[in-house]
Amino acid sequence: MYSSLIGKVQKSQIYAQEKGRVIISDLKATFQGDHDTYELKYEEGSWHCSCKNFVTDRFCSHTMAIEKMMEGMTSGKPA
Ligand SMILES: [Zn+2]
Repeated sequence: MYSSLIGKVQKSQIYAQEKGRVIISDLKATFQGDHDTYELKYEEGSWHCSCKNFVTDRFCSHTMAIEKMMEGMTSGKPA
């Protein structure tokens, strides 16, 4: 029982270094910006943000930051 747990912990440590095993398809996140909090969504291969810049430009510092954080874990293209 105890050795089984140790085996799982060891395997999880190996898996955790192999990001390519996981592809995230949909995700919601809360982003704490310098001035406000924003809702981020990852849907159908791209990020969306609730901030004003995203509405006008279709990208913002929040989506750019989370793309970098999640690099290799999402299948998508930049928003
Ligand atoms: Zn934003």
